[in-house]
Formats: sequence, structure tokens, C-alpha cells
Amino acid sequence: MSDQLRRLARLPLRDNLRGLEPYGAPQLDVPILLNVNENTHPLPDEVREAIARDVRACSASLNRYPDREFTELRERLASYLGHGLAPGNIWAGNGSNEVLQQILQAFGGPGRSLMSFPPTYSMYPLLASGTDTRYIAGSRAADFELTADSAARQVAERAPNIVFLCSPNNPTGTALGLDVVEAVYAAGEASQAIVVVDEAYAEFAKAGTRSALGLLPGRERLIVSRTMSKAFALAGARLGYLAADPSVTDALRLVRLPYHLSAVTQATANAALKHVDALLANVEDIKAQRDRIVAELRRLGLRPAPSDSNFVFFGGLSHPARIWQGLLDAGVLVRDVGIPGHLRVTAGTEAETTAFLRGLEDLLAAES
Ligand code: PMP
Repeated sequence: MSDQLRRLARLPLRDNLRGLEPYGAPQLDVPILLNVNENTHPLPDEVREAIARDVRACSASLNRYPDREFTELRERLASYLGHGLAPGNIWAGNGSNEVLQQILQAFGGPGRSLMSFPPTYSMYPLLASGTDTRYIAGSRAADFELTADSAARQVAERAPNIVFLCSPNNPTGTALGLDVVEAVYAAGEASQAIVVVDEAYAEFAKAGTRSALGLLPGRERLIVSRTMSKAFALAGARLGYLAADPSVTDALRLVRLPYHLSAVTQATANAALKHVDALLANVEDIKAQRDRIVAELRRLGLRPAPSDSNFVFFGGLSHPARIWQGLLDAGVLVRDVGIPGHLRVTAGTEAETTAFLRGLEDLLAAES
């Protein structure tokens, strides 16, 4: 045990945090970063200039606390989402991770439970332990699919207080049918479960995929969360948000810290939302690179999962850790999510994607 860990162990930490390590993918200095599903395209110049202008203007009043209700931002997010949503339906935080944490603070906690279906976003159990919420791991089929029947049966059996459904799912990339959301919501009736659909990657879904936003009317226990970190290329700005019944946003006001969204964050997000078309212009390009990765991996004899996101999860590797290291040596960082035989790669620019595919092909050829 290192000296640092020994000193940590001596502190009067909460029991459920003992022995844990901080979450986070390695932040390495590598030319091609395809490991955390960022948007690798830089912001268009016109958007950068608009952000710089509005942040500069807001600096004049940084001596004052920001608008605690982030009114303009909720208006802009409601109009971006459409589906008849009004500002009262919208809530936002510093990344969707914070929004998910606030949901657990309001609806989870000691004596309560959160259920999700691994392999899924690895922050869910950590958000549960951070809020002292019991985590229930549901199960998926061997091919990682989750059907409406199976999900609803598991929710009915375990009666969780909260369910997180990730669609498109991280790390597998595949979107859930809305029948799964409807069935889980109905099965959660008995335990009055709050059902959250985490749509962080929604903008990358294949044409025809329907968002759970359309299911919100009449379902006051349903929440759909989104982020500006992925399609909007604003991971560094930290802005996540959700849409739900206004009673849910009122519940979140009970746990949020006053002024949690800084004036700089609000100015940045508002400026970006004035340029939605320019910001989303790269989404089609990223989807094309994603589809190219799937096709090329198949050609190489690997097994990519169908992807509705900006990343591809693929199996069929005999030595994933060796391939991960070989790619890193070639300057390409991908993600080993700890699932045997699999790796995950973010779709980058055309040049980045080419570097990944060439590197992988060379490593596979050297192995055979
Ligand atoms: N949900 C999912 C499924 C994610 O993959 C991520 C980011 N990796 C998040 C939420 C959190 O994103 P952010 O806090 O940047 O909005």
C-alpha cells in the first residue's frame, strides 16, 4: 500500500467509500485521443467567437451571483429539444453526471436503490455509492441486448426506487427501443420508480430512432437526460440537462447548491445554443466515420456492436490488452472497458479514424 493510500485509510471515511479509487479514464498525452467519446472536431470558429464575446460581456457582472434559475438557458434548451417542452420542464447542471447525481440526492439515498443494466455507463454505481444508494445490477442477454420483457420482469422483481436506462448505451453503443422504456415505466408503477433515460449520445442515433422525450407527456416519473458534451462538442464547458415533469425539476431545486451553474457556464451554453446548426454540422461526419469503423472492423473479422452513438464497441479480440497497448504505442488511445475480448473506440475525424484502423490492422496482422 502506498503512503498516500495508508494516509487515506486512516481518515474517518464513510464505510461505503473505503477502498475505492477515484473514477476516471487515463488522461494521457497522446496525439489521437479516442477513449472518452468526446467530439474530436474542434468548435467552428463562429461559435468560438460568439462564446468569447458573450463570456467577455458577462465578466462585467461577475461580482454578482448568477441567475439561480438559469432562465434564458432553460428557454433555449426547451426550444432546442422541441416535443412541446417548456422551460419548466428543463433542469441543468455541470455536466449530465451532476444532473444524475442530483436525481439520486433527491430520489435515492440511504434505504433506497438504483437499478441499471450492465454493461452500462460505469458512473452509475459510483453515483449510487456517493449518495449512499444501494446499487442493483440487472442483467442483459449474452449479446448485451435488453428486451422489454426482460427489463420489465427484472424491475418488477427487484422493485428499485430509481432505474437508469442508457440509450444509446455506453459502452455498447446501441439504442433501446421505446418499448423497453414503456415497459420499465409500467413495471416501476408498484415501487413508484423514477425512470431515467440517459440520452447523452441521442444526436448520433441512426435516422428513425425515436427519443424517449416523446414519452414524457402523462409520465411524471420519467426523466430524459442529455448533455452538451458530445454532439455539441462542449465537454470542457460542463453542461448537462434533463427534461421531465415540472414537479421533478421542483424536487431537484431541493438538493441543488445555490447558484450551481456559473455565469460563465450559462453564457457559454447560451452562446452555443444560438448556433445549433453550426455546432451540429459535424454530427453527420462523425456518424459516417462510426459506420466506416463498423464496416472495416467486420472486414477484419471482428464483431462490432450496432452503434447509434459516436463510438464503437467491438469483440472478437484474443488479446485486447495487447492491442490497447499496441495502439497506444502507435499514438492512438482507445478504451479497455474491462469486458473480455472487447475494446471501445470513439469515432474521430477522418484522419484519426484512418490512423486507428491502420494501427489495428497492422497489430492484428502481426498477431496472426
Ligand atoms: N451519460 C453517459 C452515458 C456518458 O457516457 C457520459 C460521459 N461519458 C455522461 C452521461 C456524462 O457526461 P457529461 O457529464 O459530460 O455530461
